[in-house]
Amino acid sequence: MIENRWRDDEASAFLAKAGGDPTDRALALRVYTSRLIGNDPDLVMHGGGNTSVKVRRRDLLGREIDVLHVKGSGWDLDTIEAAGLPGVRLDGLRELRPLERLSDEDMVNMQRCNLLDSTSPNPSVETLLHAFLPQAVIDHSHATAMLALANQPEAARFMREIYGTRVALVPYVMPGFALAKLAADIYDANPHVEGLLLVNHGHFTFGDTARQAYDRMIQHVTEAETYFAKHGKSAPKGSPAKTQDASLVLPTLRGALVAGGNEATAMPVLDLRQGTVIDAFFARPDMAELARRGVATPDHVIRTKCPPLILTPEIIASGSIAATVEAWRANYRAYFDRHAPNAKEKKTMLTPMPGLAWIPGLGLVGIGATASAARIAADLGEQTLRVMTLAESIGSFRPIAEHDLFDMEYWSLEQAKLGKGAPAPYAGRIVLVTGGAGAIGLATAQAFKAKGANVFIVDRDDATLATALKGLGRDAGGLALDLCAEDAGTAAVAACIRRFGGIDILVSNAGAAWTGDIASLPDATLRQSFELNFFAHQAVAQAAVAVMKAQGRGGNLLFNVSKQAVNPGKGFGAYGLPKAATFFLVKQYALEQGADGIRVNGINADRIRSGLLTEDFVASRASARGIDAETYMAGNLLKREVEAKHVAEAFVMLAGASRTTGHVLTVDGGNIEASLR
Ligand code: ZN
Repeated sequence: MIENRWRDDEASAFLAKAGGDPTDRALALRVYTSRLIGNDPDLVMHGGGNTSVKVRRRDLLGREIDVLHVKGSGWDLDTIEAAGLPGVRLDGLRELRPLERLSDEDMVNMQRCNLLDSTSPNPSVETLLHAFLPQAVIDHSHATAMLALANQPEAARFMREIYGTRVALVPYVMPGFALAKLAADIYDANPHVEGLLLVNHGHFTFGDTARQAYDRMIQHVTEAETYFAKHGKSAPKGSPAKTQDASLVLPTLRGALVAGGNEATAMPVLDLRQGTVIDAFFARPDMAELARRGVATPDHVIRTKCPPLILTPEIIASGSIAATVEAWRANYRAYFDRHAPNAKEKKTMLTPMPGLAWIPGLGLVGIGATASAARIAADLGEQTLRVMTLAESIGSFRPIAEHDLFDMEYWSLEQAKLGKGAPAPYAGRIVLVTGGAGAIGLATAQAFKAKGANVFIVDRDDATLATALKGLGRDAGGLALDLCAEDAGTAAVAACIRRFGGIDILVSNAGAAWTGDIASLPDATLRQSFELNFFAHQAVAQAAVAVMKAQGRGGNLLFNVSKQAVNPGKGFGAYGLPKAATFFLVKQYALEQGADGIRVNGINADRIRSGLLTEDFVASRASARGIDAETYMAGNLLKREVEAKHVAEAFVMLAGASRTTGHVLTVDGGNIEASLR
């Protein structure tokens, strides 16, 4: 059930920050309730919905004018600030209403021309709707329960039963001038209403204050939820599908989603969602039919595409994932060819790739060019299941027709929401770093992230992992795991797949040094060192190669070797021996995986301040040589300390060296004794 999240103390805090000016105070409360709406995933998600407030302000010449502050594009309601609600001269917008029609270009231009601040973001595409309605405060959401009503053939009857005459119904029209005009006309004919339900689209409420508009929004949603609880029939049940293995399905799907291109073509990121609600939905006998009906609200289509790709256990068992994806693409091209000729201007087909996969026995998968795009698609996909379930429980889920969906998907103003500009060089690439919370591992994860990659880090210690993950931001993943444990390599790779859908680059970095003269070294110590410094590398590489082969688009294995592998130091035999084996591992994998397009390289680094080289250790080594720590650390040909970031830089370089494999690159500031050739 939806919850009214208004808190007087929070509202007061917003007011206190605003000071005494009544206009600033109105705007402060507008920001507060916009965030309340934006923070509730059953009200709006990801750029959906918008809010406004009308105030009087003085312009530069001291004249009092009416100003509409309305959500600007590029802002999300959950994090909005006053700057995200640009001010627009109301008179300049309202005088447009008598026009018969207004093109989108002219509408956007008029909205910009009436901005108080020319540097503001573009006001929402629904700005005119806010402007033409007279109320001071207007909230617009795509609430789950309201979408379940808005997509009913019998929406009018349900609305009457639930709200009487308090909410008016507006037939479906694409957002823009025509919708603003129609909604305002319907309001004028029903001036007592508290809100509007836009068929196939969403819900508006209004009020004299931010509190009143918000209370009405929550009230309407609550009444709808109560109605569903009372009248909703339970969903038709089927038997749940056989459990599917994410490690087998997702990498294959990821590879299949990219048609053509070469190894340099980025594959999408996958965001897997699981749970009993999803399982129950996918067990419905009418699941495949519901998938074809459409989206819960039109602007979802730019993130989720339509319909979802369905991978049944039969498709998976028969090895037909790629063929099913190809059939989806053919279907998408046919959809484009059916509708593009009717468009006013020439349209170019977007990448034919589903935004969602429904995989009974596994879960719902969001598909996107980046982790955040995949997350948004998955969030919207989960909401759609809730909308469909509710809608079907009282009637029938009937969203907009296909040609309306096409108009929305190919509407230039919607495409603008997706942002422009060249993607970052590693956008969409998935990088798994072992020892990812340590000095070199974390620096490497950060270096790949800075190039746009999605990073998944594995480290032994929970707390350091959590700290490292915090620094890597929301769209990073991680797992606390001892790589010497049984099946740890497989577990690390499986966790990365569950988070992002696959792997493009493995940075096998975790290591630790054991010391002691080789002649008296206990057998157990050497074996322990081999476990981490050799076998753990082998195990995670083996698991990563299996994923890369399933994806079918090459990949990168990068190993952190060590100077010890080629230039032994006294007392470091226990460390150097397994590292020498790992050095050989680079060559062996390079030899055997070249034909798969998997490149295999390593870094031979030395004297980096990290877990292996503590401050105490540096101090003792330095004093043994009769020099200070700085001189010791800069004891190389360049006379400069080598830092973790320099190793990270070399890993990124090797990942990008598209014709280099079987190579070990030295990062040690220059050491002729340890130089390779
Ligand atoms: Zn909307």
